[in-house]
Amino acid sequence: MIRFAVLQLSGCAGCEVSLLNAGAWLDRYRLVYMPLVISAYDVPEVDILLVSGGIRTDEDLYNLRRAVGRSRQVVAVGTCAISGGVANLGNRDDVRELFLSQAERLHVPRLLPRCQPIDAVTHVDRYLPGCPPTPELFMAVLFDDPNFKPGKSVCQECGRAKSKEMRPERLAGSQQGSISPDICLINQGYLCIGSSTRGGCRAICTIAGHPCVGCRGPSDAFIEKESEAWFVSIQRVFASLTDIPAAEIDAALRSPQLALFLFQFSDYAGGGSPRPKEKVL
Ligand code: SF4
Ligand code: SF4
Ligand code: SF4
Repeated sequence: MIRFAVLQLSGCAGCEVSLLNAGAWLDRYRLVYMPLVISAYDVPEVDILLVSGGIRTDEDLYNLRRAVGRSRQVVAVGTCAISGGVANLGNRDDVRELFLSQAERLHVPRLLPRCQPIDAVTHVDRYLPGCPPTPELFMAVLFDDPNFKPGKSVCQECGRAKSKEMRPERLAGSQQGSISPDICLINQGYLCIGSSTRGGCRAICTIAGHPCVGCRGPSDAFIEKESEAWFVSIQRVFASLTDIPAAEIDAALRSPQLALFLFQFSDYAGGGSPRPKEKVL
């Protein structure tokens, strides 16, 4: 049986819950380390190490280095491990000040100056982006399944029809109004960036009526390009489907709410380590 471990750095445990929602690996894989569900003090020798969470603390760094040395293959799982994700919030001065001002926090791991993706310190064999990746995506990466065919973008998997006639003039805001079930969310005034986000999640958000926020990161068309190319493309999509002023789209794209995921669109090309698209599921 193939032995695998799940190392959780700074994140939210959502990736682990998603993996546990998939049961197909039970017959072929043996999970030997995952603190959320298995009482094991240390990572043993394994064939595959899945790492979730970003390197936020000195403890994360120590645990990652030790676990990688015992693993034949390393998979970076989720936005946090690949680009920092929610753990990046600690990069903000006000968050750090709050954290460091609490005396009782002296006995928790020391914050590093910045959160880092795991490939800043270790070799990564596969990248599995998503927040979290769906159970199906976990299975595809564990089984290295040649039959798993993700769409090139979320748009390809979404199935909502784009309309030339229904042209909103303003953004609708995130939680307002009722959603038509079959029409593209952009035509309904929502800031959906599924056109440039890599597929594979089966458009679970947009089909349910929630705009895609880009948690799967850039599609192959953008993965090796600077973020400017992506901004231009998104503006083109909105110009073809809406009459919303470009400045309004630009301000919304740069809002803190979206920043958690959108910074990934520059990370792949501009980060410290090359992330060839062949390694990204
Ligand atoms: S990628 Fe998302 S689900 Fe996974 S640990 Fe980070 S915040 Fe949680
Ligand atoms: S832009 Fe969003 S809602 Fe429209 S088709 Fe693409 S993924 Fe679906
Ligand atoms: S639709 Fe977009 S935000 Fe939702 S899971 Fe897919 S990539 Fe992530």
